[in-house]
Amino acid sequence: DALGPTVVIGEILVEIMAKSRGDGFLEPIELIGPYPSGAPAIFIDQCAKIGGSAAIVASVGDDDFGRINIERLRSDGADVSAISVSPDYPTGSAFVRYRDDGSRDFVYNIGKSAAALVSLTAEAKALFARAGHLHVMGTAFAIPGAWEMMDHAIGVIKQRGGSVSLDPNLRKELLGLGQTQERFAKLVDVADLILPSGDELFMAAGVDGESAAVTALLARGVTEIALKRGEHGSTFFGPDGSRVDCRAFKVVEVDPTGAGDCFGGAYVACRRLGMPVFKALEYANAAGARNVTVQGPMEGAASRPQLDEFIAVTPRSLP
Ligand code: ATP
Ligand code: MG
Repeated sequence: DALGPTVVIGEILVEIMAKSRGDGFLEPIELIGPYPSGAPAIFIDQCAKIGGSAAIVASVGDDDFGRINIERLRSDGADVSAISVSPDYPTGSAFVRYRDDGSRDFVYNIGKSAAALVSLTAEAKALFARAGHLHVMGTAFAIPGAWEMMDHAIGVIKQRGGSVSLDPNLRKELLGLGQTQERFAKLVDVADLILPSGDELFMAAGVDGESAAVTALLARGVTEIALKRGEHGSTFFGPDGSRVDCRAFKVVEVDPTGAGDCFGGAYVACRRLGMPVFKALEYANAAGARNVTVQGPMEGAASRPQLDEFIAVTPRSLP
């Protein structure tokens, strides 16, 4: 942390949720929102809230949807100096409705919103020049110019002795596009820490099977893998076959959105603060679990005292 803040690049959105479960938005239904959202925003909010030095490069519109995001991030301790405000485009948004089976219908306004305008502004450059860590999220690959920004940021941050983490939460459809596969593989090569969930482990490694994928990633220079297992907790894999498992907390899931992002924000912050792996996994599991008990994508992000309290009172699932 002494080297400078953890920086994330990507989309800021508001989420507006249907109050009832069902199929889509084809008739008038009750909605609740706007909630601050966007995977990178959730990540950095949790990172800041737990006590990490944290900053985001993003873009919002000159509207209330943008303002609630900036205000939330600022009040939770994130550096918002590199969030640009577009005079022409609205803040990105996502309308979400859960179906009975847990899957979701979306209406997005992202590609033609301010969220797609993230660029290497003077403020972003200044931020990278004093950053200690870059966290890359697969969702950001949809932003035009994101790759060039990430290349720039990685160059500058690595040059200063900083580190890089990667949450490959990228949609399969994106991997097929242009040079995405090749560029994604390059990111895996420069990443120090990878935080995959489910099949993303195999996608990142380009190899199937858990132990083969782990071995392949470590051979490519990744030094830490924090594998997210949803209601089954998480596992760390490191050099020389080291492995640490951390059981999940037993909670009632109200809204699964944001669990992986809160896990990542807490894990990266704790490791950069110098905590040992098990402690970081425990805080990360707690951050993910607590977030799913609250409605809204980042409404359950928590401070370190709140997580200490959560850990003290919440039972663990069996391994
Ligand atoms: P998302 O579903 O937000 O895309 P993800 O798939 O990247 O996230 P998950 O594994 O779903 O990540 O969640 C991250 C962490 O949060 C898990 O490793 C776990 O510790 C915790 N978590 C998530 N869901 C639950 C749950 N239902 N019960 C307990 N803990 C959970
Ligand atoms: Mg998940």
